[in-house]
Amino acid sequence: MEFPPYPAPLAPWASDPRHTRGRRIPEPAAPPRNEHQRDRDRIVHSTAFRRLVYKTQVFINHEGDLFRTRLTHSLEVAQLGRSAARALQLNEDLVEAIALAHDLGHTPFGHAGQDALAECMRAHGGFEHNLQSLRVVDELEARYPAFDGLNLTFETREGILKHCSAANAARLLRTEPEGPARRFVDRTQPSLEAQLVNLADALAYNAHDIDDGVRSGLITLAQLDDIAIFARFKQAVLADHPALLAAPGRRLLFETLRRMLSAQMADLIASTQAALRAQAPADAQAVRMAPPLVCFSPALQAEVTVLQRFLFSALYRHPQVVQTTALARQALVELFDAYLADPGAMPADFAQAADTPRAVADYIAGMTDRYALREHHRLTGRRLFAD
Ligand code: MG
Repeated sequence: MEFPPYPAPLAPWASDPRHTRGRRIPEPAAPPRNEHQRDRDRIVHSTAFRRLVYKTQVFINHEGDLFRTRLTHSLEVAQLGRSAARALQLNEDLVEAIALAHDLGHTPFGHAGQDALAECMRAHGGFEHNLQSLRVVDELEARYPAFDGLNLTFETREGILKHCSAANAARLLRTEPEGPARRFVDRTQPSLEAQLVNLADALAYNAHDIDDGVRSGLITLAQLDDIAIFARFKQAVLADHPALLAAPGRRLLFETLRRMLSAQMADLIASTQAALRAQAPADAQAVRMAPPLVCFSPALQAEVTVLQRFLFSALYRHPQVVQTTALARQALVELFDAYLADPGAMPADFAQAADTPRAVADYIAGMTDRYALREHHRLTGRRLFAD
């Protein structure tokens, strides 16, 4: 692989910020920043972004200070995404904006929280974290005098709305027929930058969940010997550094993960370059009509799938994680019921909203892990987790 020129010119299929589809509410340009840099800056300064530091990825915030949070996860996704974007001559600013915003709608307590809120909202229009991320940047941030939300460009919003059910897409299209929900009806692809963030997201959590899983003691290095993609690089590290054989610890783990990530990045860049050469989309719009183009090679994709299955059964379904997430789930369900019964227990903006269940979901989704636990204690008088 060669070093690309720096700064690299944008590839013809990249999203050029000068050709953005723009913002829902038109605003004058703000040079020297381009429109996607400006989106990135709005995201970094948002309240929802700061809350990510106290939101769980897999491990609940009080379990230890060294585990990933939604904030450090988002920074890792941005780092991986930007590296690949620069190599592929894609729009690095757009990749960064999407990566930093992609988890803004996550509830406290990770997937347990998301499942709990989805269950609470089943009869009230449902709850999906991707849609909630869009809701945060479109409506819930209250920072500008002239509009709700952050008024981001179409391309950033398109990347944030990674998944969307048919029912939600239909509802979004009623108010915005050509908005980011359109592709879930047309079954087209998002920009290359959005596709890249999706894969960078998976790359990041596959690697850091191994790290956090081993750190927590819930999975072991020995278990990972059965996982080809990990075992291959671990053997290579031991061959280069035989001294690690006597004390296989953190350095062995880190160097293995480092090589694994580098190899996946190299594969992603080469496979995507090959797909782009074969498909040769004329421009960023033609990308949306093409099949997915940001990809791994089939061989690497198969190895990644094996790793993901392992993490699912060994870590995400580990009895200790399941026990903690059951309590977290209970906390959110009880909080939801308490606010629904007494909306006045929420701040005025939420208490006075026309759609009370949606306001309760928005309020709870915005909470950090520790704030949710504090509110749960205040409203129920019980503590679900020992301090
Ligand atoms: Mg993520």
